[in-house]
Amino acid sequence: MNNSIKVKVFPKFTKGYKEGYPLILKERMEKWPKEIQEGDIVDLIDTNGHFIARGYHGKQNKGDGWLFTWDKKVELDETFFTNLITAAMEKRQFLFADESTNAFRIFNGEGDGFGGFTADYYDGFLVIQWYSVSVYSFQKMILEIFLSLPEIKGIYEKRRFQEDKQDDFVAGKEATFPLIIKENGINYATYLDDGWMTGIFLDQRDVRRRISEDYAVSKNVLNTFSYTGAFSVAALFGGASKTTSVDVAGRSLSKTKEQLEVNGLDPSEQAIIVEDVFHYFKYAARKQLTFDLVVVDPPSFARTKKVTFRAAKDYPAMLREIIDITAPNGTIIASTNYAGFGMKAFKKLIAEAFQTSDRTYKIVETHSLPADFTVNKNFPEGNYLKVLFLTLDI
Ligand code: SAH
Repeated sequence: MNNSIKVKVFPKFTKGYKEGYPLILKERMEKWPKEIQEGDIVDLIDTNGHFIARGYHGKQNKGDGWLFTWDKKVELDETFFTNLITAAMEKRQFLFADESTNAFRIFNGEGDGFGGFTADYYDGFLVIQWYSVSVYSFQKMILEIFLSLPEIKGIYEKRRFQEDKQDDFVAGKEATFPLIIKENGINYATYLDDGWMTGIFLDQRDVRRRISEDYAVSKNVLNTFSYTGAFSVAALFGGASKTTSVDVAGRSLSKTKEQLEVNGLDPSEQAIIVEDVFHYFKYAARKQLTFDLVVVDPPSFARTKKVTFRAAKDYPAMLREIIDITAPNGTIIASTNYAGFGMKAFKKLIAEAFQTSDRTYKIVETHSLPADFTVNKNFPEGNYLKVLFLTLDI
């Protein structure tokens, strides 16, 4: 184990840390030691010098490390990680037991007791995402534990702390791609070795399920920011009459075709449009096209040649354009993964969009992260996903 360094917490933050707040923020400390290095063990102490909790120092996009125990006797060793991973696997037994689904998150950082890495299961293969150099120093130990599990055949990783693209096969057996996974009986083609994204966003599983269960029958569906068209496929399984998928990335055409084909669906019967959605909204309005169900799941920040989109600022204006091409009594599924605001603020942005419209709406469903993306109850801001199903009254 690396050095252990005692750090004193400002009195006003002591209570929060004692109660389980897991993120180490150096501005909450009386003095942040100059000599501290990535991967060092940090013992937080109160003004009287009493132990509060133990963590590791690792700079991430947010924060300066994660606490992992409130018990002075616990050390960061193989036993610790084995217990942690065993407990995380147990929590997902309901998913391992579900024959219609074989891709889901099996370790969700601080939600499973140790911030800094996540692990997603794709039918026997893992994708681990490492968020700091220091968490990467535990890589070997963590890989060995995962590989010793009968469920895991091979492991891929993405080093999020590196600027340039860093993703690799790292251990066990290699998969062949596309790796076809199953989610609620629907196939999705995935590539675990091709950049940050794998072909499917596992955190939207419940939303895809609800679309196919209750929102798609006979509907003309518009899927914007569609990526590989996963929402379109879910809608077709739910009985949609037609889907139109719009994404600006050139890859989205072949990727969406592939998602349809691996389910025996004919891509030539669906519209797959490679275009900036903001242009498409104008085109659809001009042509007076309307859709019964519109799904909108933009990135938090996106820049194309002509348009810069920031969820925090531009969501209402975008939604306003969507309202105009939504059929009478239609449904809009509005989603955001922007961690900078919560559900309340998101609802406000939605209300703002309708203020300038003569249409009114009801929120009929609210979703955040699914159960396998476990949220730490002392760190609710880790629940970044917000999805609202809105039905229009007219
Ligand atoms: N909804 C998708 C995931 C979206 S990922 C799913 O559930 O699988 C975000 C996508 O937005 C990316 O594929 C990116 O190419 C696309 N994108 C970003 N800006 C865009 C724009 N202005 N117009 C169209 N697509 C855009």
